[in-house]
Amino acid sequence: MATVQKSIAIRGAGVVGLWQALLLARSGNAVTIYERAAEPFSEACSLHAGAMLAPRCEEESAEAVIRELGMRGIALWREIYPGTIANGSLVVTQSRDRVLLDRFARMTSGYQQLDGAALAAIEPDLAKRVSGALYYPDEAHVAPEPALRFLLDEALAAGATLRLGAADTPQGADIVVDCRGLAAQDVLPSLRGVRGERIVIRSKEVGISRPVRLLHPRFPLYVVPWGDGLYMIGATVIESQETGPISLRSALELLTAAYALDPAFGEAEILMSGAGARPAFPDNRPRIINANGYIYVNGLYRHGFLLAPVLAELVARFIDTGEQNAEVFGADQGQW
Ligand SMILES: Cc1cc2nc3c(=O)[nH]c(=O)nc-3n(C[C@H](O)[C@H](O)[C@H](O)COP(=O)(O)OP(=O)(O)OC[C@H]3O[C@@H](n4cnc5c(N)ncnc54)[C@H](O)[C@@H]3O)c2cc1C
Repeated sequence: MATVQKSIAIRGAGVVGLWQALLLARSGNAVTIYERAAEPFSEACSLHAGAMLAPRCEEESAEAVIRELGMRGIALWREIYPGTIANGSLVVTQSRDRVLLDRFARMTSGYQQLDGAALAAIEPDLAKRVSGALYYPDEAHVAPEPALRFLLDEALAAGATLRLGAADTPQGADIVVDCRGLAAQDVLPSLRGVRGERIVIRSKEVGISRPVRLLHPRFPLYVVPWGDGLYMIGATVIESQETGPISLRSALELLTAAYALDPAFGEAEILMSGAGARPAFPDNRPRIINANGYIYVNGLYRHGFLLAPVLAELVARFIDTGEQNAEVFGADQGQW
């Protein structure tokens, strides 16, 4: 039976705060989660995510450290969350854009080249439209809302307490772990928001069982199957921290690209659209910053679901042993 070690306040119940709460509560700490919103997840960027666990595909545009930490992130999701779908992911393009697929292959690793027949064996609907694909078998994904709910429920089951409508700085805890996402700009001024718009649809006709990225010179997109006929179509990457409704142009681009990927999308119902602002530091790398008695965990950019578990593991280790992973730890909060 674990003993209570420390009293730990977690600020923010997005994917980052919830993973922190879960691991720290499970290792016997007295954890209280302080969330500004009155309803869990209602103000979190995390609710808008794909949520692909795609360390290999992300290497096309991210530093190698994202892949290295991300592989551990997938292992932790698989270990802890039974809803993790470990089905791999696909990257495709229309034949006139073949050069984009070749470039993507050069920038990434851990894929298999699938010809039309091999693609048809795993995604028959897709194989009607594209002639080949890159297949990343060790990638995974989750549906964000059930995953967030699971993390919260498990943290509470491990003894954590949740305070909703609690935006003030927590008092009296031994340690405060600040996971407020973009709201932490008040103390981390170099944080910026990167707007991501997405549309959620329901279709009985589309039969895609793993995340698919469609490379396109102007309108790249991805489709993530969340189960029960739900698909997330995303996502824009816009230098803005606006979280207001999706623009008409973005909706057109996302839906047109989805329709090009599979015309069966034409009959789908549009259930939701919306935007989140991804919290990012100037170099788009995540940081754990230990300063002034606070531990800030932030800047997870496009990789919040992928990296939240591994950053939680690193924070738990730091609290236990003082060990700091040089790739992500920073000591000087003012620098950020
Ligand atoms: C369209 C889109 C698609 C994405 N797709 C993926 C993907 O496929 N894979 C992936 O890994 N990542 C993806 N991401 C990125 C991922 O969603 C983010 O990196 C992640 O959500 C950041 O999580 P967070 O917990 O830091 O912030 P948030 O989710 O924003 O959580 C912060 C929480 O802090 C709370 N808060 C704020 N101020 C206070 C306060 N004063 N006191 C208490 N609580 C406070 C907020 O209400 C919120 O609940 C995507 C993002 C978007 C927008």
